[in-house]
Amino acid sequence: MLLVPCPHCGPRNASEFRWMGEAKPRPDPHAATPAEWRAYLYEKRNLAGWVREGWYHRAGCRRFFQIERDTTTNATRPVSA
Ligand SMILES: [Zn+2]
Repeated sequence: MLLVPCPHCGPRNASEFRWMGEAKPRPDPHAATPAEWRAYLYEKRNLAGWVREGWYHRAGCRRFFQIERDTTTNATRPVSA
């Protein structure tokens, strides 16, 4: 069982959440090329190790937040500033 640490509700079962995928910076819409948009929308890095991810607590506070998760162990930690 994966416990996701919601910053508003505390650790909860992952079934309460919607995984939003890897968080990455959005390109400037006025300056990005079509290739950059395609890469932003569809190309996933699928890294092994610590990855910053977006989550939505759909069965709780209904808020979006980011955490870091080690994709090899499912260990989680808060996002460092
Ligand atoms: Zn929550």
